[in-house]
Amino acid sequence: MLGEQMAATVSTPAKLVDPRDLLELMRQHPLTTPFNLAFYSEQHGRNGLLEAIYTVCAPLDEERLCTPDCYQGWVESLYHSQLTNQPAVHSCAKGFLCFTISLPEGKGLPDYLIGGGVFERKPSTNSAMEENNQHTADDAMIESGQYPQLISLSRAKAIVEEISRALPLLLNQQIHTLSLTRTTQRLEAVQKLTHDLSDCKNSDQAMAIVSEALVVLFDLPKVLIVLQRPGHPMTIHSTLGLDQDAFQFDQKRLADYFTESSGYLEILPGEEFATLFPGLETHLAYLFPLQENGCLLGIIALLDVDLHCRDQALIDLLVNRLATRLGSLTAAEDHRQERQTSARLVAMISDLSLVDNRHELYRQLLEMSAELLMATSGSLMLLNENDGTLKIAAAKGMNSSLAKTMSVAYGEGIAGRVAKSGFPMLVNDIERDKRVAARNRPRFKTKSFISLPLEVEDRLIGVLNLADKSNNTNFNEVDLNLIQTFTNHAVLMIDRAATLEKAGQFEQLAITDPLTGLYNRRLLENRLQEEFSRSERQQQSFCIILADLDNFKAYNDICGHLAGDNALRKTADLLRRTAREMDIVTRYGGEEFCLILPGIGKKESVFVGDRIRRAIETESFSGESHLPLGRLTISLGIAASPVDGATTNELIHAADLALYQAKALGRNRLVLYEPSMDDQGLLSHHE
Ligand code: GH3
Ligand code: MG
Ligand code: MG
Repeated sequence: MLGEQMAATVSTPAKLVDPRDLLELMRQHPLTTPFNLAFYSEQHGRNGLLEAIYTVCAPLDEERLCTPDCYQGWVESLYHSQLTNQPAVHSCAKGFLCFTISLPEGKGLPDYLIGGGVFERKPSTNSAMEENNQHTADDAMIESGQYPQLISLSRAKAIVEEISRALPLLLNQQIHTLSLTRTTQRLEAVQKLTHDLSDCKNSDQAMAIVSEALVVLFDLPKVLIVLQRPGHPMTIHSTLGLDQDAFQFDQKRLADYFTESSGYLEILPGEEFATLFPGLETHLAYLFPLQENGCLLGIIALLDVDLHCRDQALIDLLVNRLATRLGSLTAAEDHRQERQTSARLVAMISDLSLVDNRHELYRQLLEMSAELLMATSGSLMLLNENDGTLKIAAAKGMNSSLAKTMSVAYGEGIAGRVAKSGFPMLVNDIERDKRVAARNRPRFKTKSFISLPLEVEDRLIGVLNLADKSNNTNFNEVDLNLIQTFTNHAVLMIDRAATLEKAGQFEQLAITDPLTGLYNRRLLENRLQEEFSRSERQQQSFCIILADLDNFKAYNDICGHLAGDNALRKTADLLRRTAREMDIVTRYGGEEFCLILPGIGKKESVFVGDRIRRAIETESFSGESHLPLGRLTISLGIAASPVDGATTNELIHAADLALYQAKALGRNRLVLYEPSMDDQGLLSHHE
């Protein structure tokens, strides 16, 4: 099992000295300047040595090994220096000088320091002319920038001897000073990054801060970040120092790895890491889990580096901070998303209630459902009561004239069975789900779909099918809940369209709201026009009241959408009963109502408004005691024509500002519009 392999991670002994600090110190040392330097440890085997040789010789040649005997030359040199405990210098077939120094044991250091990249200046044994030619060739090479250094073998030997002698001093004193400075610097930087993280506004910023810190602060050559968000496919967030086209990633194994992860840093040997990312070569991979609240949000893999334990701890700290921040940012983003979806839902329902044509209603209902769930195909089927079949009333993502000719018998096929059982079906994999056990039909891109019955008071009227999420993920319970909320409203409109059509009262469809039976916004706008002309003719004033239930989102969240709908119906009844007979009561939007009060001015309208406010306050609504104020209440804004506005828009805007003020003053109150509200820079309730 992969999990067991994962457990067998490579152990790194706690080291006092960070070899990378040591290397840096050595590179700064005047003696070593001509040479390129690298470390090698026997435990990294042939690949490790090739990597090290490549590091010291790379500037000289594109190929890893320029001659077949190069590798062997290095192996012998290493063997020699280890055996004699003396530095060894050899020159390769291409004329480069190479050295190996065996490092002291027991300090957690790599086994060897190796150097190369210096061209050998041969002693002058040749004729003057040959020597001259040789020097000219060398000079040309130096000038071309190919060979930066040129020294004799004896000089190289002397330098290497001295490096070897200077090592103990470096190791005993300077390295510790450097280490301490490094540690302090990095700690300070991590602390500052933690602040930056808490200031950042979104996940992308947080990720960018940490990716940059890894590369710059810890000098990491290769970083790979994989992220996983619930409901989204796993993605490679970034690859630094890696060619993303050169490897793949095994979704399935990585998903298993995520499920089985211990939640702690794991260090995997290269071969094991390559099972997750086929084609990616590394000798070692550090996998830092981005874990928040027991949920793995991603992993940060650091490749081709031997991390000092201090840096491991610091990176671990940073990654943990990142995970915490991502967790809270994601929660905030989800919350915002939820609010947006809820607002979109209300807007859709309100738009749908304005549709005055049956076919348009079906088409829009399907379009809106698909938009809500990001489905790219689907169909709305309606039950034909005469012959008991389901017929496609609207289709998306398939040939619609073909779709219209198709019908499904009640109880047969997926939709037929959903219709019969009355239960929705949420299928993740149509090929594996026992309930369907049908081969995935080729017209679907993905194997997941939702099919749900449409019912009005337990009477089946049709089935809605949705498939093929645009991001290729599966539908889930959240999708199902959302679409059920939407269709609970939409079915009322379908049913109402059918009933009105039967009764020959189709014009009513265009002007009433299906949930509450109140007039809708379209009627409001028409009547306001009429009211403006009439009041002008008769030199009379009229008022409008904009009323909005308080904390209604909370009421829905606490008591459920059905209770919310009932509360809206009840409010509509109360408004109708409390208003005067000639007043026009309309549903303006989700939990907002607009009343036209003809023939009166602001003073008189206050009586009507306050009667409404008290009626809602005293009426008992189921579950309202759980609300913050223990009661469901309403806020109202009043504006009068012509003083507060001479057009529909102006008048509604004025009432809206007053309503906003009522909310700002603590809700459950009534506020009259005053011109000063325009100057207070108030946002209207709808902005
Ligand atoms: P405020 O006091 O500021 O008005 O707060 P609020 O929560 O009432 O305002 P907001 O506009 O944020 O939320 C309105 C909520 O009303 C969102 C939605 O959940 C709910 N809502 C709107 N229309 C309907 C509907 O037709 N049925 C149900 N059940 N809820 C609805
Ligand atoms: Mg509102
Ligand atoms: Mg409200």
